[in-house]
Amino acid sequence: MSDHNRLLVVDDEPEMRSMYRDVAEEMGFRVEEAGNQAEFVVTYDKHDPTAVLLDLTMPDIDGVELLRDLADRGCAAPIILASGQDERVISTAQRLGRMFGLTMIAVLQKPVAVSALEGALRSVWLEAAGVTVAGLEKAIAMERFVPYFQPKVDLQAKDGFPIIGCEALIRWMHPTRGIIMPGEFISLAESNDLIGPMTEILLRATIAELTTWHRRGISLPISINISAKQLTDLTLPDRIASMLSDAGLDSKLLAVEITEQAAMADTRKAADILTRLRLKNIAVSLDDFGAGYSSLAEIYRLPLSELKFDRSLIMDLDHDPDARTVVKALVTLAHQLGMPVCAEGIETSETAEYLRSIGCGRAQGFLFGKPVPAEDFLELVLAQAMAGAKIVALDGRLTA
Ligand code: C2E
Ligand code: MG
Ligand code: MG
Repeated sequence: MSDHNRLLVVDDEPEMRSMYRDVAEEMGFRVEEAGNQAEFVVTYDKHDPTAVLLDLTMPDIDGVELLRDLADRGCAAPIILASGQDERVISTAQRLGRMFGLTMIAVLQKPVAVSALEGALRSVWLEAAGVTVAGLEKAIAMERFVPYFQPKVDLQAKDGFPIIGCEALIRWMHPTRGIIMPGEFISLAESNDLIGPMTEILLRATIAELTTWHRRGISLPISINISAKQLTDLTLPDRIASMLSDAGLDSKLLAVEITEQAAMADTRKAADILTRLRLKNIAVSLDDFGAGYSSLAEIYRLPLSELKFDRSLIMDLDHDPDARTVVKALVTLAHQLGMPVCAEGIETSETAEYLRSIGCGRAQGFLFGKPVPAEDFLELVLAQAMAGAKIVALDGRLTA
């Protein structure tokens, strides 16, 4: 990242420049300032900035002239425009910048709010990281997304923690940046209508993996994450079911995880889709339970096959007696409502033992295994099968 952190701020007002500097430096940028055209030329040539924040309206310079100047210099750095002019003027200047071939990534209306400035600077980081809408579109076209698999284990087994399934977690295999984690791009995909095609790629890869396992005699279920946006797509259950049947796979082998937030946003539509998934024998887990504000009283009417307790509920168990009381009560209540519980984010054997002692059935966490590529996960499963351990599918069937 440090290669991409040279920000040039061009503004005639020293107070504005120092505000920009404070915020940008806190976000890891090295900041150079220019207060007029002459300074701009010298500073630009000396520092070769990787991002430019430009005030459109300065007394001795015409901002549009400056944009043309940047274009003439072959500037590839992303540009943030700021101005006290009305929005139309700024957006016209932005369009003009694009016509000059410049990368215009954000506009700021003066007076500039710190949060808006932070947002604009964050897009500089993401741009540098290749996480842009255009980058996502390209990655979708080239199918650069793959699932990593994290084991899900039985906490109540007599002997050890046998693998009973896994979760598919998306990874973007970027040609120059390497692996990009979902936290960096899922929300960008969601807000640009790209989450559908992205999930489709993951779904296909997951089903291909299930098919490979099936051929090798392993029938472990895989859970995939479905975003809030997709819970309004009424065709989803049919699409998933037909992909499974086309592959000749039992629909019990695929489960869907939806977040608590998504389920509660439009409960009627969620209930509709979830019910149809269940009718097609596709299990539905409620992900991230405990990270939001809904209570079991609101959730228990949804046709859920499992509750996944968020890491935030689990991580304090070792040192906080109150956290233990809360989790124990929640596990008991979930069981009384007929919902199995999977605890997420288990990193220590103390946590695992505590959860086992209060009857929590399933678990996921670095203690049992990090998310790994398909080949590595298959090896893990085969090693377990070789060791004579029984692999038990979520519905209780013995499968290996
Ligand atoms: P999630 O579905 O709750 O997945 C669990 C996340 O916790 C994963 O992060 C996993 O690597 C991490 N994790 C598991 N065990 C531990 C542990 O013991 N300690 C710690 N510190 N972390 C642990 P990851 O892979 O970065 O995924 C983050 C989130 O991105 C997921 O949270 C899920 O909400 C979303 N996501 C991942 N793949 C997809 C996808 O294909 N589609 C959609 N819509 N969202 C996805
Ligand atoms: Mg999940
Ligand atoms: Mg979760």
